[in-house]
Amino acid sequence: MELAQALGRIAEVPDFPEPGVLFRDLSPLFADAAAFAAVTDALAGTVDPGVDLLAGVEARGFLLAAAVGYARGLGVALVRKPGKLPSVAGRVDYALEYGTASVELPTGIVRPGQRVAVLDDVLATGGTVAATCKLLEDAGAVVAGISVVVELAGLGGRALVPGREVRALETC
Ligand code: IMP
Repeated sequence: MELAQALGRIAEVPDFPEPGVLFRDLSPLFADAAAFAAVTDALAGTVDPGVDLLAGVEARGFLLAAAVGYARGLGVALVRKPGKLPSVAGRVDYALEYGTASVELPTGIVRPGQRVAVLDDVLATGGTVAATCKLLEDAGAVVAGISVVVELAGLGGRALVPGREVRALETC
């Protein structure tokens, strides 16, 4: 399947999770084998050759990182929401529009000097990937690019990760 057709499987849901927000729902894309394969191949092509490890952001980033990891012969570090890990190597808190969120890294997964590429489904305000980059760098890793399926450019997320290579399959 062509990438454009695959990206067309993403549903746009108005007023979710709150009025005025147009939510991009990747559920139909993941459920369509050909679309998922096309997006996996395209994302795999955004990961630099020298990368040692992928970091997938909970939860849809897990799916993408797992598929790309298989395609590229790379393992996946699970970047998790709080309260899920028996042993936490590091935690970064970040601001949301209302309140805060956090990401955590399991102990013993990322080694100092490893080149790690970050994968997630949507780049919106950039808080999640910025926190993930800090989490990885706190563990001694080198962040080697950020790859997402959709970038919501109007929210200016790239500004939170200045100087980093951000690759999006679709920008809207
Ligand atoms: P940010 O931190 O504002 O960039 O938001 C990105 C995080 O929120 C990602 O982990 C996404 O999974 C999620 N997210 C934000 N907007 C959307 C959306 O429209 N569809 C799906 N996920 C979204």
